Amino acid sequence: MKLFLCLISIFYLLAGTAFTLFPLKSKTLYITLVKPIKSLFILPLLFGHIIFFTLVSFLFVTKSFGEQQITKAIYTLPLKSPIFKNKSPEQISKYLKECGINAVVHVPLNNSIINQLRKNGIKAYAELSMFSGNYYWDEHPESRPVLSDGHLAEMDGWYAGICPSQQWLINQKIKEAENIAREYPIDGLWLDFMRWPTRWEVKAPKIQHACFCKSCLKRFQDETGVRIPEALKSTKEISRWIYKNHSENWYGWRSDVIVDTAKKIRGVVTKYRKDAIIGIFLVPWREEDFDNAIYKVIGQDIEKLSKVIDVFSPMSYHLLCYRDTGWIISLTQWMKLKTDKEIWPIVQATDEPKKMSTEEYEKALKAGLIGGSTGVMTLTAEATLEDRKKWEIQKQIFVKTPHLDSISP
Ligand SMILES: [Zn+2]
Repeated sequence: MKLFLCLISIFYLLAGTAFTLFPLKSKTLYITLVKPIKSLFILPLLFGHIIFFTLVSFLFVTKSFGEQQITKAIYTLPLKSPIFKNKSPEQISKYLKECGINAVVHVPLNNSIINQLRKNGIKAYAELSMFSGNYYWDEHPESRPVLSDGHLAEMDGWYAGICPSQQWLINQKIKEAENIAREYPIDGLWLDFMRWPTRWEVKAPKIQHACFCKSCLKRFQDETGVRIPEALKSTKEISRWIYKNHSENWYGWRSDVIVDTAKKIRGVVTKYRKDAIIGIFLVPWREEDFDNAIYKVIGQDIEKLSKVIDVFSPMSYHLLCYRDTGWIISLTQWMKLKTDKEIWPIVQATDEPKKMSTEEYEKALKAGLIGGSTGVMTLTAEATLEDRKKWEIQKQIFVKTPHLDSISP
């Protein structure tokens, strides 16, 4: 397509120039035939040139010939890894470029690295971890989620969920996002743990029906107009009453809390970086998984989030979720029905809960690039660098996949 347009453009330019600059030698023929045509068409011809070439240049610049560029991202950039140790930011960036990588998500907050990456055409996306971490439980005990039975949430392995309605934490996160955007020339910011509590990346998740803390119950009533009867005293009674009488209000409010915070973060990031994009990591559950827990428990509503999010990254970790690589594709396809925003799945390279073979990783990476996605990222750069065969197969796929037209299932 590009070649065809180039040839047409060159032909059109040469023909037009020759016609304009070199009149026919036969004066009679020139006066009777060419001159009237020239005088009639010379202005439209010149304008035609300008419009045509402006259009062709625009199409080239935006690369909108049906060959959309895809994002080939690594998640994290482990500067202490032997391959990067003692190398300059310029050398690291050039090496990543040679490996077909055009984006780093969770980029180190280091201006010389970020500047060099961007100089080499590699996008630099920061990450902001939102509602997770038991250190908040110590600093602010009120951030520990209250379950529907009144008990406080417990640690689930390494995971400690945090109540996302806590205003002090929301303010703190907005400030963190603002500082990142102000201090570093990032191309965007990815939101992690941007959701309600529950650890999902296991075979049988322990669903947490939360949170019924003071902050949540107050905000729920203030923001929806629902009034919890004063006669209800225990958390168990209150949660039962809400689920029975106002479940839709409850689920809707919970997802609004997440969207509202994302909107505020978008506001402070784009204040300093006008063109920055906002991405989000999504729990890879569909409606049929655990009784629509993606909405009722996690509170990530893709349709609503589409108003404030540019790129969705389902955490399509197939080994951790006991799925095959076909699941990665079907998850992207399902999301495409819910949003017209870009989808860049993050696929697993780590050996959890069992060894990820190179062949399996290759299948996962390719699956991440089809089904309607416009990019992919890999969890994690450390995992692929430690197992060089994975890094090499990733390089082959990334280098051979310059745009969407080149991907085949
Ligand atoms: Zn709460």
